[in-house]
Amino acid sequence: MKPQFKPLALKPSYNIKAQRTFTVIRKYAFFFTLLVALGGLYEPKLGLLVIPVMIGLVLASFFKGRFWCGNICAHGSLFDSLLLPVSRNVRIPGFFKWKIFSLAFFTLFTYKLVSRFIMIAGLYGSSSFWDKIGLVFVSSYLMVTVSGGLLGLIVSPRTWCNFCPMGFMQKASYSVGRKLKVTESTDEKITVSDQNQCHKCGKCARVCPMQLSPYDHFSDKNQFDSVDCLKCSTCVSHCPAGILNLANQSTASFMAKHINKRAGENRRRFDTVLAASRLLADDVREFTFQLKDNDISFTPGQFILVRIQNEPEMFRAFSVSRFNSEARQISVTVKKAPRGFGTDILFNQFEDGMDVVLEGPVGDELILDEDSRKAVFVGGGIGITPFLPLVQDAVEDGAIDEVKLIYGVNKENEILYREEFEALEKKHDKFEFIKVVAFDDKWKGEKGFVTDVMERLDLDDRVIYMCGPKPMINASLNKLEQLGVAEEAIRYESA
Ligand SMILES: Cc1cc2nc3c(=O)[nH]c(=O)nc-3n(C[C@H](O)[C@H](O)[C@H](O)COP(=O)(O)OP(=O)(O)OC[C@H]3O[C@@H](n4cnc5c(N)ncnc54)[C@H](O)[C@@H]3O)c2cc1C
Ligand code: SF4
Ligand code: SF4
Repeated sequence: MKPQFKPLALKPSYNIKAQRTFTVIRKYAFFFTLLVALGGLYEPKLGLLVIPVMIGLVLASFFKGRFWCGNICAHGSLFDSLLLPVSRNVRIPGFFKWKIFSLAFFTLFTYKLVSRFIMIAGLYGSSSFWDKIGLVFVSSYLMVTVSGGLLGLIVSPRTWCNFCPMGFMQKASYSVGRKLKVTESTDEKITVSDQNQCHKCGKCARVCPMQLSPYDHFSDKNQFDSVDCLKCSTCVSHCPAGILNLANQSTASFMAKHINKRAGENRRRFDTVLAASRLLADDVREFTFQLKDNDISFTPGQFILVRIQNEPEMFRAFSVSRFNSEARQISVTVKKAPRGFGTDILFNQFEDGMDVVLEGPVGDELILDEDSRKAVFVGGGIGITPFLPLVQDAVEDGAIDEVKLIYGVNKENEILYREEFEALEKKHDKFEFIKVVAFDDKWKGEKGFVTDVMERLDLDDRVIYMCGPKPMINASLNKLEQLGVAEEAIRYESA
């Protein structure tokens, strides 16, 4: 038996340049930096504006940790808005994160600042006093803009924030707030609603401006307890499982008690061997895993997590495309993502015979609703994969009277599992397979998008299950709303 693959060094594609500026302040606060750092060279009193900023950030951090850094800081806005698109965005060297490094930098920075104030103190009462004080702030703002900006370009946009003296002050103020237990109700931390639904995909770590790793460090209270977290919500908005929130401690425990746990209730870890992998198209491969010991409790429509890397441990979620309980085999079908970190490993390092760890199954969005006798499945591109076991299950199950599958692709040669679906259609009257192709002149069948097909179907009293890329899901949700389909009748899953 081949050994499990070795841990990989993190590749450049690890850190994702994800959207981070969700509010007007976060997007445009950098104008304040330019105003003080550049405008202050002509009008030094502009530097005095930094004083209320410093008071504001120390006060805010007493209650909310580094919330200011992630949501209000003008330099942070500059790094996220202007530098991210052009930054190399590579791993931040470890020494920038050392406590001793930020303490030493803070001491040096404060010493310089205080000694300049002492020199200026003698001028108190003169006309130039406030100009000189302002200039001290202007020059430090300019220094941060230049040094932070260069580090942001060469390394990663928020490199500076790891040892920023203002960040250091905030952490000190935060620790006082924590000691006094003031933060218990005011401090909103990254909170996971259900750890069993976490894909362990590492996306929260890959998009994090501070390169933190929430998914590895959730506490038993389901919270990510890091003084360096900027509460910027970037991980929240990019988590594919939609299980992250910013919440205080009592909201976190409320969520833990009231979350629907069905989606991850049967999740377990399985040792498997990669029994076979076969190419279905140039960029699509089906991987079949042989379970070693345990049986798996799988319901069609669920997905499974495939471990792609040991250190840091990371998985990728894939819908189960085939399941053979007798042979104890489970398959997933994977489309190679352009510049994809995980699919690159799957396509280039996974070999038949190697040991692979799976976790799952997870997910309840696409599990057949037992109360409905009619189902419409809508798959787009690689989103067809969960529908193979779903259609098989539905057509063989006496509880379902009618099954329609709408399958949208760009070109005819992208249609996956065509033979399987056509064979099922021939065999079962209650199943209709509708293929719709968007951009292929040679295609003789129905042209357009899945939404065009929806328009002509009777969708009353049916449950609609959708899986595909986000644009397809969003367009379909709009169309279904226009067609008057009730929200309760729509289930969907998207990466
Ligand atoms: C519930 C669920 C079920 C799924 N089922 C399937 C399935 O059956 N089959 C399947 O193929 N997939 C499925 N997926 C998607 C799958 O989990 C992976 O997300 C997908 O394979 C891509 O992974 P990756 O690591 O290769 O890509 P990632 O590295 O995560 O990249 C994804 C995309 O992000 C962009 N990107 C990457 N790096 C950068 C960067 N540095 N800057 C800017 N953009 C960047 C690229 O466009 C890339 O294509 C499913 C996802 C979910 C949540
Ligand atoms: S699902 Fe992925 S992004 Fe969301 S918390 Fe888990 S590891 Fe992070
Ligand atoms: S962990 Fe999330 S909220 Fe905290 S800094 Fe990283 S991306 Fe922002």
